Amino acid sequence: MSNESLEIYMQKAIEETYDGIHKGDGGPFGSVVVKDGEIIGSGHNMVIRKNDPTAHGELLAIREASQKLNNFDLSGCILVSTGEPSLLSLAACLWANIDKIYYGCSNDDIQKSVFVMKSWMILSTICHIFLKTI
Ligand SMILES: [Zn+2]
Repeated sequence: MSNESLEIYMQKAIEETYDGIHKGDGGPFGSVVVKDGEIIGSGHNMVIRKNDPTAHGELLAIREASQKLNNFDLSGCILVSTGEPSLLSLAACLWANIDKIYYGCSNDDIQKSVFVMKSWMILSTICHIFLKTI
């Protein structure tokens, strides 16, 4: 996969993140699932909106992709997320047979930038810096 493609997917994940922030849906995290170059699922954290501690962006993107493919097996798909997947999201990726995971911010980045400095812009900046280093 080219860096340009990954940047497009990450940009969509960032847009999901901002959508969730503006709506007050939950934590600042967004994800997309891609198959054969097409985004087939996207989602942002909706833990607060749904009162559902499992409504992580990754899981919502996986659910949408599975519905679109009418298949629980997402072999051949990649997941692109703004943040390092939680254990819950990582387990979901494994159960769905996601081939690869790309993420922008590590858990350390998130702790330093989002929850300590409370700056959503830094999240986006870190994601872009990450893309430039791969
Ligand atoms: Zn998660």
